[in-house]
Amino acid sequence: MINGIPLPARDGPFEEGFWAALDRGVLAHQHCEACATWHFPPRWRCHCGGALTYQEVSGAGTLWSWTEVHPPVLPAFAPFAPYVVGLVQLDEGEGLRMVGNLVVASGDPINRVRPEQLQIGMKVQAVIGEIADGIPWPSWKIEPSIPTGEMP
Ligand SMILES: [Zn+2]
Repeated sequence: MINGIPLPARDGPFEEGFWAALDRGVLAHQHCEACATWHFPPRWRCHCGGALTYQEVSGAGTLWSWTEVHPPVLPAFAPFAPYVVGLVQLDEGEGLRMVGNLVVASGDPINRVRPEQLQIGMKVQAVIGEIADGIPWPSWKIEPSIPTGEMP
């Protein structure tokens, strides 16, 4: 949990299912029944015009890309820099991607994982924690077989 970060809006018109799932400790994304496309971030309709419903997803994914963040950053993140942020492709669908912090274990600080531990295509799993008080958010746990290095 990081104090003083900008908080995501939880009252958008299409996000209710996303936040309700996170409140239960699971991940859910919008799915189009007409063309079977998954969507994130939440939206009104699918690009095909189909209606979208929330469905739970496994939280399993693949590291699609990552970057190491260096200052300047928002003041709340400054004590953690440099830190790694990943772009994860979820197993449920091509193009269903989320940005998030990479961790070795749930509750790790955001700067626990180092770039030399990462490989594009490695498996990750969502772990739901609190990014701020009362705000659940997934981080991405990397495979335990990857060397973890020293704690910062
Ligand atoms: Zn569609």
